[in-house]
Order: sequence, then C-alpha cells, then structure tokens
Amino acid sequence: MEMQVVDGAREAFQSGRSRPLEYRKQQLRALHRLITEHQADIAQALKQDINRSMYDTSLFELIGLENDIKLAESNLADWAAPQPVKKNLSTAVDDVYIKPEPLGLALIIGAWNYPWALTLQPLIGAIAAGNAAVVKPSELSEHSARLLKELLPQYLDKEMYPVVTGGIPETQELLKQRFDHIFYTGNSTVGKLVMEAASRHLTPVTLELGGKSPCYIDKNCDIAVACRRITWGKFANCGQTCIAPDYILCEPSIQDRIVEEIRNTLREFYPEDPKTSPDYGRIINTHHFDRVMALMEGCTIALGGESDRSQCYISPTVLQNVLPHFRIMQEEIFGPLLPIVTVNDLSEAIHFINGREKPLALYVFSYDKKVINRMLMETTSGGVTVNDVMMHYTLNSLPFGGVGNSGMGRYHGKHTFDQMSHHRSCLIKSFAMESLNDARYPPLSVARVRKAKLVLQTRWCSCCSGMCVWAVISTVVAVGLLIALLVVLL
Ligand code: NAD
Repeated sequence: MEMQVVDGAREAFQSGRSRPLEYRKQQLRALHRLITEHQADIAQALKQDINRSMYDTSLFELIGLENDIKLAESNLADWAAPQPVKKNLSTAVDDVYIKPEPLGLALIIGAWNYPWALTLQPLIGAIAAGNAAVVKPSELSEHSARLLKELLPQYLDKEMYPVVTGGIPETQELLKQRFDHIFYTGNSTVGKLVMEAASRHLTPVTLELGGKSPCYIDKNCDIAVACRRITWGKFANCGQTCIAPDYILCEPSIQDRIVEEIRNTLREFYPEDPKTSPDYGRIINTHHFDRVMALMEGCTIALGGESDRSQCYISPTVLQNVLPHFRIMQEEIFGPLLPIVTVNDLSEAIHFINGREKPLALYVFSYDKKVINRMLMETTSGGVTVNDVMMHYTLNSLPFGGVGNSGMGRYHGKHTFDQMSHHRSCLIKSFAMESLNDARYPPLSVARVRKAKLVLQTRWCSCCSGMCVWAVISTVVAVGLLIALLVVLL
C-alpha cells in the first residue's frame, strides 16, 4: 500500500505539473482554504487529541501556517528565480547563477504535539519548492491524523501530496522506499533510525528533534515578568512543546522568589483550577502520563504535583532543589514539570549547559548585557530567546531547527523553501573570449598558469558582481577601438 502511494507521488512529480509556479501557488491557496474553512474541525480534533483550547490552536498552529502560506505565495517568483552570483574574468561575459529547483519526492513525518503545524509547515515549503510529498502524521494524535487524511485530498492534488496514516510499522515501511528528502519531526532516538534508513539511499534529511532546553534566570532581572513568561511557555500544551523551557537554572538566593512568582502567575492563568480550565491541556496518552509521573521520583514538589491518570491530567508542577543526577535531569521532560536546579553563578550555569547535549532552544533572563552576551558567546543551541521564551519560533524570518542532538536542517518561511530545494549551480558559457581559455589548455607553461591565476581569481569583481570586470573590459575595448580609428584616420 505504502509502496503504491510512493510510486504514485513519484509519477505525479515526474509528470512535471508541480514545476510551474502557478500550480504551486494554486496548491498553496487551496491549503489556505483548507485551514480557514476547517478551523473549527481542526480545533475539535485537537480538543479530542490533547484537550487543546481553540485559542491555542490558532496561536500555536494556524497563525504560523497562514503566515507561511501567504509569505510563500507572494514571494515565490523571487525565491524560485535564478540568483546571479559574482564572476571571475574567465566568466565575465557568461551567465552565472544559482537556480533553486525541486528535489523531487519528499517524505514528511510529523509528531503528535502540534500535529498540524509539524506536518503542514514542511509541506508548504515542499509545495512552494515544486516537490511532491508523502505526508505521514503521528498516529498518537489520531483525531488530527484522521482529519488530515480526509481533508488534504479534498483540497490538494491527491496524487502529488498523499497522506499515509499508521504507526511504527507503516513509517518503517515508508522509510524503506527511496525519497529525495526526508523531513522528520520527533525524538532523537527515532531521528537516528530515520537517518540510518535515509543513508541507504543517500537521501538528505531534516531532523527536527528535541532535548532539554535550559532557562537561566539571573538575579538581576525582572523576576516577576520572567516567571510569567516562563509559566506560559512551560505549561502551554501541558508542557508538550519541543522548545518549552525544560528546566530553570538560578542562584539559590532567588529560588523561593521564582516559586512564588510562578504560583502567582498560575493563579492568574487558571483562577479556579487548571484541571477545569479550558486553557489547560492533557498528556497525550497514558504511556506518556506514566513516563512523566515517573520523572518526579525523588523530587521535592514546590508547586502542583496533582494528577489524574483517567484524564491524563498532571497539574502545573514546580520542583525545587533538583540535583543534576536526578532522573528528571537525564531526559527531555515533555510534560508540565519544571525543575529548578541551583548554580552558584553564571559560569557554573554555562558549564552546566555545555556539559550536556546541544539544546534546541536556550533562554536567559537578565538586565545585564554582559550576562546575556556571555551566555550567547559561550553556549550553543538551535535558537535562543533572551528575556522571553519560545518567541523566536514565531518569526518566520528566523531559521528554526536544532544543532547536534537537537537536530539538523532548518525551516519556516523562506528557510523551508530553501531546505526543500536543490540549489543548482549554473554556468552558461558563451563561445566568445576563447583566447582566455589558453590559460588552461596544453601545452601548459609558467606563463599560462600565471594567466590562469589572473582569469580565475574572483577578486576582480569582488566589489560589484562583475561590474568592474565589465568596466575593465569595456575600457580596454574602447581604447583599442580608439587606437584602431586613429590608425585608420592617420
Ligand atoms: P511520535 O511518537 O509522534 O513520533 C514521531 C513520528 O515518528 C511519528 O509519525 C511516528 O509514527 C514515527 N515513529 C515513531 N517511532 C518510530 C520508529 N521506531 N520507526 C519509525 N518511525 C517511528 O513523536 P515523539 O517522538 O514522541 O515526539 C516528541 C519529540 O519530538 C520530543 O522530543 C520533541 O522535543 C520533539 N519535537 C521536536 C520538534 C521540533 O520542531 N524540533 C517539534 C515537536 C516535537
């Protein structure tokens, strides 16, 4: 079954109909219509999957999708156009450019925590770049997966963009097939399996993975505002966000204050009880519920800690005086537990972060530019937001992706288009200026190599992409013509 779908999508790509920009724009517009016409159905599916509030569905998934669609549609001609590049003397009269072209057939494997954004955002780039794509949503967000499978063929070219639902066996079957790009979102363990499968066909991959994203709170900052922002980012979607702050690092002197401010914020966000609030989500299933609950073992609960397995409910929970060797600090939490680990100073915080895998996101709160700069200069992460959390994700001008264990490749906005394109190097030579080519033809000599050095060096036109080469050539030609004219006249 998977095999037929893949063959069908490849045939659709080979038909060439995804190449014209008008086709791509029409598919993007259709995708936009799907989202706007079925906003309520999408919200309903997410309510069933993860108890997501309809407002959060817009905030965390649909607004970003709409922005990316509009951006791609209005900039497609520019993005897909050949981009002229600098030349050297030997190519001065030739056309030299980079041409983004479709890679072919992509496989998009999504995760369950934001099932619409994580499948459709890569798809927007795949469509814009002129590819075909097989879309494989996560089986864990089953209502969303079913709805996607039902809706997508009603709006898009169904041979070009088929949806395959199913779990691990279906995904593994798909991974045996040859694709021209695999775009995977999920955990790092499966990410390695995806990369291994891709390597059999030398297929390039984008791996959007996770990990533990640290959050350092300097004592010199607006702790109330910092905690309000962190509380939002940590407990949105019940903590199941790849770039949620995983844990807090701070000096012992401000730990109690942080707990207090988070308590105040939680009262403001969920005045009655998070359990009855329409704005507070649920853990995706009992397997993940048990996993998250087990992470609390041995920890001191400062706030929250309530749970109800029958509803996959875990209240917003803060854990204090957590030690680095605790289980909760060994893996990504991906749930509403916020451990606070104390460090003596900024250097220790930086040392702590650098002693672990490279995170997907990093957060630092401080009034002090020196603190911020040290954190930026002495650590690495996929992305970073200073004095807030997660907001770098919302700017589609910024590439979104991980580094090291948190992933490879990047997307959002034009970055998705670039990721899904082959940037073909094109040199279209003319038959003119053959004399310059002596420099590379036998019989070679010192003089010819010297000439080669001259014609191949790019500094001739480093200032203005060939303009000065043209200026030099035009001057030489003009002077030559003038001399010839004078010779004829005299
Ligand atoms: P998941 O269980 O939904 O798995 C993701 C996909 O992989 C699914 O489509 C699933 O069918 C497939 N899959 C699972 N096991 C497989 C196997 N053994 N072989 C082949 N395919 C398999 O999602 P998850 O991994 O639980 O997602 C959560 C993780 O994803 C977290 O680590 C989170 O940080 C990360 N994440 C990253 C981003 C990002 O943009 N970087 C976004 C969301 C989630």
